[in-house]
Amino acid sequence: MEHRYDYLIIGGGMTADAAVGAIRERDAEGSIGLVGDESDPPYERPPLSKALWKEGADEAGIDLDTRRHGLDMHLGRRAVELDRAARRVRDESGDSYYYGKLLLATGARARSLPFGGERVVNFRTRADFLRLRSLAGKGRHVAVVGGGFIGAELAAALSSVGSKVTMVFPSDAIGAGRFSDGLADYLNGYYRERGVELRTGCKVKNGDCDEDGVTLILSDGSELEADAVAAGLGVDPETGLAEQAGLALDDGIVVDARLRTADPAIWAAGDVARYPSPTLGMRRVEHENAAISMGHHAGCGMAGEPRDYAVEPFFYSDLFDLGYEAVGEIDAQHLEVVEHWAEPFRCGVTYYMDGGRVRGVLLWNVWGQVEAARALIAAPGPQDGDSLRHRIPMG
Ligand SMILES: Cc1cc2nc3c(=O)[nH]c(=O)nc-3n(C[C@H](O)[C@H](O)[C@H](O)COP(=O)(O)OP(=O)(O)OC[C@H]3O[C@@H](n4cnc5c(N)ncnc54)[C@H](O)[C@@H]3O)c2cc1C
Repeated sequence: MEHRYDYLIIGGGMTADAAVGAIRERDAEGSIGLVGDESDPPYERPPLSKALWKEGADEAGIDLDTRRHGLDMHLGRRAVELDRAARRVRDESGDSYYYGKLLLATGARARSLPFGGERVVNFRTRADFLRLRSLAGKGRHVAVVGGGFIGAELAAALSSVGSKVTMVFPSDAIGAGRFSDGLADYLNGYYRERGVELRTGCKVKNGDCDEDGVTLILSDGSELEADAVAAGLGVDPETGLAEQAGLALDDGIVVDARLRTADPAIWAAGDVARYPSPTLGMRRVEHENAAISMGHHAGCGMAGEPRDYAVEPFFYSDLFDLGYEAVGEIDAQHLEVVEHWAEPFRCGVTYYMDGGRVRGVLLWNVWGQVEAARALIAAPGPQDGDSLRHRIPMG
């Protein structure tokens, strides 16, 4: 079957939803097609590891109602071929989609554990949430592999529904490498106090899953048995189509300031795109705020109103009753860390510095200061620990 669209979007996530909205605001008549391999229409991903685990949460509340913009959605369809000369995308069933302008909003794919099974969840999608939710609960033991953002959120969420949780990760502490050593150590204690067992310095080498449970074989030689395992091992950008079509790649699809690839008919945005940040240079971010704002910018450009993408996106997370927002580069391994605490590890600001410039800001239980953090990152400096004291109010 053949389809023809003025605007074609590959991927059905938050980037796609924002792009569709921006296109439709500027072009009431143009035909829009979306091809997404999940069976669900676009939805918000962040609640999958946070709000949806709270009592009384309404799963339908995460739906994004992209349909209101008037478009054709081809769901449960994976695009497998991009022919730039013919301006055509093919899906795995053989359907063809011809486009005037194309947006690659294919996002990122969760890295997988070395074994699989019904009780093994490499966590990324709504379907993963539903499966993990059905495996979790009072009296169930869930192993969480990974000590980064998603692992930490999932461990807190699973505990909150009564599961016994064991976290397994290779570093010494939750958030190690991103947070200061002191904050990461504090998080270890904080999680342990809430009943989460931590197996630090350990990797999963292999495992086994049957109808009764999972067994993880750990790098220290021990075995860990659980009812289920959830993995938050990071993601890889979904660049397959772009690669096959010969577009430039560098840990993501390389785009210019207007989120366009070297092919003037093709844009890329969201988790999959590597773009030039005016303040931080070429980067790829995996943030909701970036998905929405880049999707919007790309949609504007596709509909004939190009504008540079100059937003410094931010990230947020909830860990039990702690919460934070983070702007820029949160990298304690490669950047100098300057911490100011109103109350140690409960309320404060961490600055990530390089050569006298602020590259990232972690707002730990400090709210409403994202703009101030963006301004500091954009400022030429030089800054140091003293000059940053009280620059961002801590409540
Ligand atoms: C559990 C979880 C919690 C998160 N929490 C936060 C948070 O608290 N704060 C924050 O800022 N960010 C958070 N994020 C990150 C945020 O959700 C992502 O940055 C955002 O979803 C990226 O949107 P996207 O549309 O670019 O990509 P995706 O959400 O990955 O969507 C891309 C879609 O395209 C589909 N696709 C890929 N390839 C193809 C193909 N060839 N053909 C058809 N379809 C294809 C994918 O299956 C997917 O449906 C979280 C992510 C997860 C997984």
